[in-house]
Amino acid sequence: MNIQIQLIFRKSENELTAIVRSSKFGIIVDIDGKTVSLDPKRYNHQCDFTFISHAHTDHLCKKTSTTENNHKILVSKATSLIAQARGYRLDDVTEVCDGFQLINTGHILGSRGLLIGNELYYTGDISIRERSFMKPADIPSAHTLIIESTFGRPEYVFPNLVEIIHKTNGIISEMYNLGVPVLLMGYPVGKAQLLATLFGHWDPIFVHDSIDKMNSVYMELGINLKDMATHSIAEKKGLLAKNKPWLMIAPLNAARSNFVKLMKQRYGAVTIGFSGWAIDRRYKFMMDLDYTMPMSDHCDFPELVKVVRACNPKKIYTFHGFSVEFAASLRKIGFDAESLVGINGQKGQQEPAKKQIPSSMPDELTLRLDHFFS
Ligand SMILES: [Zn+2]
Ligand SMILES: [Zn+2]
Repeated sequence: MNIQIQLIFRKSENELTAIVRSSKFGIIVDIDGKTVSLDPKRYNHQCDFTFISHAHTDHLCKKTSTTENNHKILVSKATSLIAQARGYRLDDVTEVCDGFQLINTGHILGSRGLLIGNELYYTGDISIRERSFMKPADIPSAHTLIIESTFGRPEYVFPNLVEIIHKTNGIISEMYNLGVPVLLMGYPVGKAQLLATLFGHWDPIFVHDSIDKMNSVYMELGINLKDMATHSIAEKKGLLAKNKPWLMIAPLNAARSNFVKLMKQRYGAVTIGFSGWAIDRRYKFMMDLDYTMPMSDHCDFPELVKVVRACNPKKIYTFHGFSVEFAASLRKIGFDAESLVGINGQKGQQEPAKKQIPSSMPDELTLRLDHFFS
């Protein structure tokens, strides 16, 4: 069933500016006679434009190729290259289009928000923190803001990056002294490459084969990453050994996998997981990690509020994560904000909990775990 709740805002009494809808396809905006589908879960050929904010799999749909209806896909060059390397085919893509502006959101390489007609800004996933090669997001001012709210609860306040680097180096150094190998774990696109630059000074350092592929794309796009041997090559050459320290960058979705079990059994490796969810103490146990670090490619709560203030919109729609709570917090400080999920009366676009997560996990967190796997 395609339940669509239409939210209408008007520039003046009579002039209709835009309609923001939440549908089975995701968020859709009708503006100036054009229909724009924002990060759709399912490809909608009835729209004039599809915007893809970045190459995490929760923002890509398997089929986004078309030659029908002059449909255009708005996406940055880097995102389309990373997406293609991940097996998503994108046709008819463009970065430049009249009436639209793609703006850096500082989330992962190539991530962009969409400014429509200088009036409506959709953020996609966003970070305003400088992290190694990642520059903070640029925030345009706009009449209407559609903002992600992954960490839209006041308890989500991340420590600064220097503190995280310092603590992580401390753990690695302790493990090196004990002769214990360490797996640094994050999602394979974005986080893994940051880990490679932030901790690449350790030696020897290896990389999981799945991440190696993504590293190559990053390098093609001009990011300077250390040349690291892959896990399979290291195994073949006998470079991994018990009681001899080494580091490996591995995907976080493998935390409960046979790969991690094998690394633990064979080499006694310990794991450090990097995610904003680490603010919640339960996260470490839920993910079966030895250590966790709250390092995120999203804004924390105060940063989300900063983005809103910088944009200074008349109307705000929140989506993703704690969207209902974040909209309520924004109303408290005087903004006109509502959650697209809350209004829709549905659980929204969050994916169901993945199989790897134990059923005892609190519901509110299970719903939000899609980000771990992207
Ligand atoms: Zn993302
Ligand atoms: Zn996301």
